[in-house]
Amino acid sequence: MITVTGANKRYGSFAALDDVSLDIPDGSLTALLGPSGSGKSTLLRSIAGLETLDSGVVRIGDREVTDVPPQKRDIGFVFQHYAAFKHMTVRDNVAFGLKIRKRPKREIAARVDELLGIVGLDGFQHRYPAQLSGGQRQRMALARALAVDPQVLLLDEPFGALDAKVRADLRTWLRRLHEEVHVTTVLVTHDQEEALDVADRIAVLNKGRIEQVGAPAELYDRPANEFVMSFLGSVA
Ligand code: ATP
Ligand code: MG
Repeated sequence: MITVTGANKRYGSFAALDDVSLDIPDGSLTALLGPSGSGKSTLLRSIAGLETLDSGVVRIGDREVTDVPPQKRDIGFVFQHYAAFKHMTVRDNVAFGLKIRKRPKREIAARVDELLGIVGLDGFQHRYPAQLSGGQRQRMALARALAVDPQVLLLDEPFGALDAKVRADLRTWLRRLHEEVHVTTVLVTHDQEEALDVADRIAVLNKGRIEQVGAPAELYDRPANEFVMSFLGSVA
């Protein structure tokens, strides 16, 4: 479980997060959905420790991590524009986190093979990132983030820069990955269709506040207010 309690973050007089509280159950794939500027990335980055809250508490599992630096929070992170190590092959990119943790070679090889298989990149392990398509690169990023077996996977618009067909394809990969690895996942997106399609829970954000949290069908059938209704209703 990830628990955010009473989170506030201001930039000058502007409230990017306005008293946000949210529970994210273990093993769920929760989408943070909302329009541009609603505070999705700020909330995700606060869970990651990349943003310092003005007030509020973040817990991951049974640990309070509010003041714990990102590298000690046991998280994997994938951004929209993923910075792969350009001089390393796909295989070495995915293996990197395990190598610096000095895991045995055989264990690293097995884990990397497994993950590359799940994301459909078995045939691509000796390529360099520049030799992959955008969708393949993001799948490599997912495998790399999961290699060290984090407690939590945090995704900030990981498919945002890609075209509609590739995005739809990646949703399927993400669902599959989530079913196989079952790590608690938080996906930031401004795309209603993506959230409804891929998430088992959705938190709708607007102007730094959470408007509603629930299963996709619940939100769709019983929107808590006008905002949720019109935002979810604008699915193409
Ligand atoms: P998008 O869909 O465009 O990525 P978002 O929901 O992720 O939007 P955030 O990045 O969380 O939005 O930003 C929330 C608000 O906080 C925005 O209005 C943004 O301009 C503001 N903000 C974010 N970072 C800063 C900063 N470093 N300085 C000032 N304002 C900021
Ligand atoms: Mg954002």
